[in-house]
Amino acid sequence: MNKFSTKYIFVTGGVTSSLGKGIIAASLGKLLSARGYKVTIQKLDPYINVDPGTMNPYEHGECYVTKDGAETDLDLGHYERFLGNTTSQANNVTTGSIYQTVIKKERKGDYLGKTVQIIPHITDEIKRRIKILGDTNDFDFVITEIGGTVGDIESLPYIEAVRQIKWELENSALYIHLTLVPYLSAAGELKTKPTQHSVKTLLESGIQPDILVCRTEHHLNNSIKEKIALFCNVEKDAVIESIDAKTIYEVPLLMQKESLDKVVLRKLKLDDDTDVKLDKWKDFLFKLNNPNKEINIGLVGKYIKLKDSYKSISEAFIHASTEKNCKVNIKWINAEELTEVNIKEELQDLNGVLVAPGFGDRGIEGKINAIKFVRENNIPFLGICLGMQCAVIEYARNILKMPDANSTEMSLNTAFPVIDIMANQKNIENKGGTMRLGSYNCTLEKNSYSYKAYQKLKIEERHRHRYEFNNKYLKDFNDHGMQCVGKNPDNNLIEIVEVPSHPWFVGVQFHPEYNSNVLNPHPLFSGFVDACLENKL
Ligand code: GLN
Repeated sequence: MNKFSTKYIFVTGGVTSSLGKGIIAASLGKLLSARGYKVTIQKLDPYINVDPGTMNPYEHGECYVTKDGAETDLDLGHYERFLGNTTSQANNVTTGSIYQTVIKKERKGDYLGKTVQIIPHITDEIKRRIKILGDTNDFDFVITEIGGTVGDIESLPYIEAVRQIKWELENSALYIHLTLVPYLSAAGELKTKPTQHSVKTLLESGIQPDILVCRTEHHLNNSIKEKIALFCNVEKDAVIESIDAKTIYEVPLLMQKESLDKVVLRKLKLDDDTDVKLDKWKDFLFKLNNPNKEINIGLVGKYIKLKDSYKSISEAFIHASTEKNCKVNIKWINAEELTEVNIKEELQDLNGVLVAPGFGDRGIEGKINAIKFVRENNIPFLGICLGMQCAVIEYARNILKMPDANSTEMSLNTAFPVIDIMANQKNIENKGGTMRLGSYNCTLEKNSYSYKAYQKLKIEERHRHRYEFNNKYLKDFNDHGMQCVGKNPDNNLIEIVEVPSHPWFVGVQFHPEYNSNVLNPHPLFSGFVDACLENKL
């Protein structure tokens, strides 16, 4: 038996969306794990999609892939980057997946003739999903972030489920509500009314928040905190200011300054006097805020209007470059607008170029143009997933002289299908959750940029794709200077291509960005940043 009963912390949001619940949850998680607790963070999403894998990034930002192959909300990326531990399928729950389970059970007859209803059947399933993580006995704290804003129709079953859970868990559960305290410049005042109303909405659903975290652009003075405490039935020290920060990585320290972790521990009747080990995190922040050099990197993709579409990539750049006291400036380049005419102007001043993952043929020729330019001009290049596939296509067309070489994803009838659908993907019709997903092994060639970066021969990386390098052409590529230096040892699938005659040209079929966190920058991103720094000299 676990002597320490798992504590459950629920984070809701009010007033507006985009207040940063994910970052607050991750920051609290960081503070608790810095005290030696084992923490995991879960996200409940109120939409009907079974997972975000089928959504366009413009709907929902990046789809984050876990080690065990779940396609999840991008907040899970923040959780992993802050805590440095991995999440799993169980860390992301959607309304779609809840209903899918309940309806499957109903079809099997598991409800024994009962009418199946939101309460208790849907709410019971939600509670089961919340407790799954605690029941493993692997965690002291399960922090559950409830997506959406209180008062939304969609989130009502979640709110009801966590109301019930507190009754069952008594002192082992806690509610944190994140709200906004807006500043009205005409009045010159911070306003507490939206927070009061938001708490009232929660109260209508039977939830009294224990702690309020208030997003604000100006400091909350004592009297504002007192007012919020009085009107919202919380203790004054449980009104936590969350002022806008320069970087998300500063938020754990701001929360520590406001004693969020101490208040949580006290309310859960735990010792709040333990050491908080944040030295490495502080070192990272210091370097992030005091760079002594900078690089300019181009990110070529087709969803660049919403930067969240490439969240893990841009964060991985921050981790890798900060370690080297370097600031990274990302130039967001729309692949659809890159032509042979403007390519030089767009790319020539960059220290490195990353070609992003993606699906479908929109923007593909722009990506290929970009790769030709960086290959011919010795600009460091990192291609991820579709970016790697485009590098293979470009090399085939321009070096192997295969004129219309392509991926069968873009052109079914190409004479040179250098990228082709994986054999076990051919007969799959359903789109959701059916790609090659999650972590697989890869063995590296010693004489490669990748080995130099990883410093080991066996690696494991996460995947999300249906197409692969066509091994029929392996010899052609090897003979003409593009080397396949990373292979899956079990099925020979090509995982990494490189051009050794180029200063740094690496294409990877997997997604290194999912494996980068604040205290452990990803080796390939570090290698790429090194190459960009050298390119600058
Ligand atoms: N569309 C490509 C495939 O399915 C690449 C996917 C990706 O970039 N994640 O193989």
